[in-house]
Amino acid sequence: MINQLCKEAYKTAQSKGWHDEQMETGTTLALIHSEVSEALEADRKGDVENLVEELADVCIRVFDFCGMNEYDLEHMILKKMEKNKYRSYKHGGKNY
Ligand SMILES: [Mg+2]
Repeated sequence: MINQLCKEAYKTAQSKGWHDEQMETGTTLALIHSEVSEALEADRKGDVENLVEELADVCIRVFDFCGMNEYDLEHMILKKMEKNKYRSYKHGGKNY
């Protein structure tokens, strides 16, 4: 399901011209971060609907990136979620 969303996000972005020129990975990651910042601003305004919309933008940019690179995001999410189940409480004393 997630890998299908990655393919679809990439296909849509491609059709809108967002992949006409190759973008550096660092720029793509900065743009993902910009969506996180937009989510933060929405939260600061108490705008829950916009907060969720910006979180969706984060996911869509990640999906697009993984779709373009044919990364198996779905497998890695499942693998990481399973790994997290067995990590220690607060990962050994971290605060965040
Ligand atoms: Mg946005």
